[in-house]
Amino acid sequence: MSQVYSILVVGGGIGGLSAAIELTLKGHSVTVLERTSSLQSIGGGILISPQACKIIDTWGCFDRFLKLDVIRDKLQIWRYADGSLIGSNDFGWQKNVYGYPTLNITREDYQRLLYDRALELGVTVKFGCKVDTIDQAVPSITLADGELWKADLIIGADGIRSKVRTTVLGEVVDPRISDTAYICKISGDAMRADPLTAAIMAQPDPHGWLAPGRHVVASPAQWGKSYYIILILDKEHDRHPPIPEDARDWQTRGDIKELRKIFDDHEPKLRKILDMVDEENCKLWRVGMLPDLKTWISESGKVVLVGDAAHALNPYLALGAAMATEDVAVLSECLSRIISPSQIPIAMKAYETIRKPRAEKLKAASEFSGLEKHYPDGEKQRKRDELMMKSAGSQIAVPKKGEKNMHPSAWVHGYDARGHANTELDRLFGDDGTATFRNTVPDSFGEGLIA
Ligand SMILES: Cc1cc2nc3c(=O)[nH]c(=O)nc-3n(C[C@H](O)[C@H](O)[C@H](O)COP(=O)(O)OP(=O)(O)OC[C@H]3O[C@@H](n4cnc5c(N)ncnc54)[C@H](O)[C@@H]3O)c2cc1C
Repeated sequence: MSQVYSILVVGGGIGGLSAAIELTLKGHSVTVLERTSSLQSIGGGILISPQACKIIDTWGCFDRFLKLDVIRDKLQIWRYADGSLIGSNDFGWQKNVYGYPTLNITREDYQRLLYDRALELGVTVKFGCKVDTIDQAVPSITLADGELWKADLIIGADGIRSKVRTTVLGEVVDPRISDTAYICKISGDAMRADPLTAAIMAQPDPHGWLAPGRHVVASPAQWGKSYYIILILDKEHDRHPPIPEDARDWQTRGDIKELRKIFDDHEPKLRKILDMVDEENCKLWRVGMLPDLKTWISESGKVVLVGDAAHALNPYLALGAAMATEDVAVLSECLSRIISPSQIPIAMKAYETIRKPRAEKLKAASEFSGLEKHYPDGEKQRKRDELMMKSAGSQIAVPKKGEKNMHPSAWVHGYDARGHANTELDRLFGDDGTATFRNTVPDSFGEGLIA
């Protein structure tokens, strides 16, 4: 058993609670400081891809996730104007090939399951604790009310507008806001009662619509109790309404009347769905992406970033939460290879070295996916649709168990975070796989790592 450390996690979102579970299971003493007064999560379905499920399965609560999962086999994509099928992204085969499926549960349920598990394991989650300043050298945290907290390691899981990031970088780095996401919740009964939308509720697969400068992803949730629809609008779209300066993610009401106008060129099904949305059930989120950061760790090596605080990306490949999950698994493997608190900086350097290239590659892939989804009608859009239709129809890319997996997304969804971390740690730390040097980081750390 490696040394046990006291760890403060800033932020009780998916990343922070995941870090708390993972590190507590390794024997560390973890406290989560969350600024909100209670567990708060709004939002529609979150896709949990297989590589994240593989990690969650080591936390002793995966069966609870499976109970809430409503995904079946595929994501169907329709053309906005006439509702014709453009593509069908199959993931029914993933469980067979990767050992885990893609799950679809609501953000609310996801966070609640993590929170419950963290409490069961003895994690202290303190609400109403807004982190104000951080002394990275100690390291310590001062809350907005003046209370002081010290630890061996501080993990910044405080999201896209991270305060911890400013400490780590010594400067403010703001995300680049690209699009606006509107999230609407509709009652499942209302959807079932209308002949135009009843068929959608009869099958739980997620689905979406692509349009110039816009796209939509939706699915029934909570076993048909509700239906969530996320509508994305490009910042440059000519009908983008002004967003209030003080708009806060998921807290600000979106203008559903405006939204109906923006999507009035869509097929009748989508228009009917928007007609069913109550004003208070339409919230907005500004989609932002961080540039690649120069580092994820403070000068002392004792303050580190995970999740959106380190690599916020747009949601177009549905990977943000999965990446936070990968982060915490790798970080914990790195901590397991050191033998004293003075080596925490070395472990954190290893974490950054292993994680950063992959996170940046996924961020770039996600950005491209957004551009591709929003092509204006024309040549590029036709080619995109043809390609999507081809792979949906032929199923050529779908791998079989035991075969070499050539599926284009194998590097994303077939990734083994712990396996990769341990291979790299064996290489970085040499013979017995444990850090034996103190307070120095060899130059070779960044070389030759795969993404
Ligand atoms: C529309 C949309 C759809 C998405 N769909 C998917 C999907 O299908 N699959 C997927 O994997 N990902 C998806 N994502 C991305 C995913 O939601 C995020 O990447 C993930 O939630 C990031 O988790 P986090 O814990 O790093 O940050 P957050 O969830 O932002 O949590 C940060 C926490 O820190 C707290 N905090 C902030 N500042 C302080 C402070 N100073 N002191 C104390 N606490 C603080 C906040 O209150 C919050 O609780 C989607 C995102 C969006 C916008």
